[in-house]
Formats: sequence, C-alpha cells, structure tokens
Amino acid sequence: MPDDTNVLSIVTPLSENASMIPGPVKEMLARNSTFAQTYHAPPGLMQMASTMRASGAGVVVLSCSDPRLNPYQVLGLDQTLKATRVRNAGGRAFDAIRTLAVLQTIGNPGTIVVMHHTDCGMMHFHDAAIKKALTGIAPEEKQAIEGSAFGEIAGSIEESVKEDLALLKASPLIKSTTQLLGMRYDTETGVLTVVD
Ligand SMILES: [Zn+2]
Repeated sequence: MPDDTNVLSIVTPLSENASMIPGPVKEMLARNSTFAQTYHAPPGLMQMASTMRASGAGVVVLSCSDPRLNPYQVLGLDQTLKATRVRNAGGRAFDAIRTLAVLQTIGNPGTIVVMHHTDCGMMHFHDAAIKKALTGIAPEEKQAIEGSAFGEIAGSIEESVKEDLALLKASPLIKSTTQLLGMRYDTETGVLTVVD
C-alpha cells in the first residue's frame, strides 16, 4: 500500500474536503477514474432480472468477507457465469437470509452455494470475545449484545457449512426448490471442495 505522500501525488484533486479522505480511499477514487474511462454499461436491472428469472440458472455464492478469499478469482466469475455474491463475516447464513431472500425475489437463482474457508476469522474470534469487545464499544447495549449470535465457527469448516445449509433448508424464505450446495475453500492451497 502506497503511503499518503505517494497517493496524494497521483490522485486528482477532489474537493476542499479531499484532505479528510483516508489515503487508501483516495487511491480507490483514483483507480476508479481510470476504470470509468473504458467502462461499458451493463444491461439495466429489469432486463437482467427478467433474463435471470426466466432461466432460473443463477447462482448465489455466500462466502466470507476475508480479503484473502476473492470469489471472482477463486471461482473464475465473469460475465459468462450468471453468478452473484453475498459476503459477511464467516459467510454465515443467519446473517445473509435477508439478502438471499431479496435476491431470490429479483433474480430467481436456482442454486445457493455456501462457501466457508480454512483459517477463517470466525474460527479464531469466537462470540465471547466479540461480545466482550462490542460491550466495550457500546456498554449501553450489553444486554442486546449478550443475547446475539455473531457467527463463531467453533468446530470444523465442514460442520459450519452443514449447519448453514440446514438453516437455509429450514428457512421459509428460501424456496424449497433451490439447490443448496456446501463448499470448503482452503486458503493454503486455493482448492475448493464440495462438502455437501
Ligand atoms: Zn473468513
């Protein structure tokens, strides 16, 4: 990551508030201006959704927010694959149900893939530690924090994947005809295997 001095030297002046924007975000804005120069707009949402709905061939991949796991690279996602991604801490289903339900309404995906990975933060930072940290940030919310789940993975990846598949299968918001697939991604080898 370039330091602030380098970023400032390559970024286009944005506004008088530019100095308040952190260096990495300035870099993102600079890269975006390059990106936009050769950008071609995709089909409109309604056109895309109608094609997706009719085919039922869409795939939604639920995975972790971990930056080491880039679903575009891991799965070779591009325009030829009718796939979209949902990411959250751990790639946990309980945290993704609302989004999965909405995407199902819009694009009628035939398949949902739950992909968890080795060396996940949710295996290292369990709910007790997260609750303690959050209570430090918002002590007035202690009771609500204590009563919440934060998605720890206490056992194996295979177990957490199966747990989430069962949760999606049991959810009345996910169509019973949706094919549910579980996968395990190994951050050491880059290998993706089907769990269930
Ligand atoms: Zn993770």
